[in-house]
Amino acid sequence: MEEYNPGCAPEPESWLELDEQERIAVVETYHRGARIKLPNVTAHAALHVIVENQIALNVEPVVRAMHRLGKEGLTRHDAVHAIGSVVAEHLFDILKTDQNGDAATSQARYYAAVERLTVASWRNGEH
Ligand SMILES: [Zn+2]
Repeated sequence: MEEYNPGCAPEPESWLELDEQERIAVVETYHRGARIKLPNVTAHAALHVIVENQIALNVEPVVRAMHRLGKEGLTRHDAVHAIGSVVAEHLFDILKTDQNGDAATSQARYYAAVERLTVASWRNGEH
């Protein structure tokens, strides 16, 4: 896979073939090329990568949310951002609470938040 464009889903196999650093690099290249101003392009790209990984691996709540947000009118790129914002919050949650290894609960919480995500909740920063 040479180029990443968030407007269309990368072919799962070629996406998963890249290592994590390469994935971040192609996403950064896209944002730089598109002259999208971001406070931290690497952090932004890392969130893209997490969401794209989940889509490529067919993580159902995430795949469903992508369809739902698309139907609500978001571009694919913004739908990735919306889910990425849930990811960011989830990561923050993991860092701040000292979790005694309950990864399953944490994952269930993340999936539930993704299922609740709507265009309106994303725009209002509610999740
Ligand atoms: Zn982006």
